[in-house]
Amino acid sequence: MIKTQCCIVGGGPAGMMLGFLLARAGVSVVVLEKHGDFLRDFRGDTVHPSTLNVMDELGLLDEFLKLPHHKIQHFAGFFGDTRVQIADLTHLPVRAPYIAMMPQWDFLDFLKSHGAAYAGFKVLMHGEAKALIEEGGKVVGVRATVDGALQEIRADLVVGADGRHSTVREAMGFKARDLGAPMDVLWFRLTHKPGDAGEVMGRFDAGSVLVMLDRGDYWQCAYVIPKGSADKVRAGGIEKVHATIGRLMPAFADRLKDELTTVDDLKLLTVGVERLDIWWKPGVLCIGDAAHTMSPIGGVGINIAIQDAVATSNILAAPLRENRLKDADLAAVQARRLFPARATQAAQVFLQNRIIAPSLLNAGGKIEVPFVMKLMQWFPVLRRVPARLMGMGVRPEHVRTKAA
Ligand SMILES: Cc1cc2nc3c(=O)[nH]c(=O)nc-3n(C[C@H](O)[C@H](O)[C@H](O)COP(=O)(O)OP(=O)(O)OC[C@H]3O[C@@H](n4cnc5c(N)ncnc54)[C@H](O)[C@@H]3O)c2cc1C
Repeated sequence: MIKTQCCIVGGGPAGMMLGFLLARAGVSVVVLEKHGDFLRDFRGDTVHPSTLNVMDELGLLDEFLKLPHHKIQHFAGFFGDTRVQIADLTHLPVRAPYIAMMPQWDFLDFLKSHGAAYAGFKVLMHGEAKALIEEGGKVVGVRATVDGALQEIRADLVVGADGRHSTVREAMGFKARDLGAPMDVLWFRLTHKPGDAGEVMGRFDAGSVLVMLDRGDYWQCAYVIPKGSADKVRAGGIEKVHATIGRLMPAFADRLKDELTTVDDLKLLTVGVERLDIWWKPGVLCIGDAAHTMSPIGGVGINIAIQDAVATSNILAAPLRENRLKDADLAAVQARRLFPARATQAAQVFLQNRIIAPSLLNAGGKIEVPFVMKLMQWFPVLRRVPARLMGMGVRPEHVRTKAA
């Protein structure tokens, strides 16, 4: 049996950042990650200015930015054939006013290796939480397997940072509220050639939506399809996918045949937007995707997970370290983070319903530039609003804890 002050289930962005921050503040932490490494393709790789700012506050930004990454500062959209500039991050009041496109595993490995400097930081890879241990109406630990062997981990607090299919959330007996998503995403890659425009591009056309993220040496492409239609798209064959994508982005038609050779090259993300009404019970708390699964719109998922971790550590580090954690502290975390999650999801649902669904469902029709986008072309200063919301998030968090 292992005893610790905090057992974090899930070594994603929320769990690794929380583990790092708590250990840095002098709390003993065990992070359980069910996989043996952090390698997973097409994860949230969009490290936004809000997250870079947290790294800056931790004094780690310069070292972090030595990791290979690609900077994005502008977003453009095509509605039919009309190109509109949507967001401009260059005005954000932070040291790194851009999105650093970086493989998520590099980010997580960075946190793991820097966390190792703190005595109380322990990450158990191949550590999978199976059930919560409850005694006297309170969660007091986790039953897990570590390298296949049963392990009991006793903790003052268990944090469910185990993502959209959270075991902890399920064991708490809470059902997430489904806010609905009209689409799923098929991810694929294309090479980046000299002369390609360098930014984020979205094309909204009659019946189809494609978003392309510049990753430096390749393009990460999101082919947005109506919810539940992935099997139909795959059954239609790769030639039909080539034809649709070639029509959406003619400049890339040259590389489709060689690089997107079978429908197996399309990796499905089932989009969901969900949120728990209550994030905690005595002895246990959910954060990140486990508390609120985000739509991929805006690439905010990792960043809001990091913000949750910062707020959780700000509120809970001292009570955990001093063995005086109360239910009210857990309620305070939810009170702090519910509004940003709710506001961000409301904005995503609005965009899903007003911009994406009309394109997807309007096969054969004419696509108009939405009025709000027209305003941004007439008054470029308005592009700072989506930049601020996307780049910094709603109610940005600051690191308030000190290194112990
Ligand atoms: C295909 C895809 C593409 C995405 N693209 C973007 C994007 O471009 N930008 C963006 O910001 N967001 C994106 N997201 C969302 C983003 O990845 C998540 O919002 C973010 O990672 C949430 O962080 P988290 O730490 O809460 O959860 P997760 O990242 O899901 O991490 C949870 C971790 O818990 C582990 N785990 C699960 N169950 C257990 C268990 N029982 N025991 C131990 N460990 C467990 C998992 O292995 C995982 O490592 C994408 C998501 C997917 C699936």
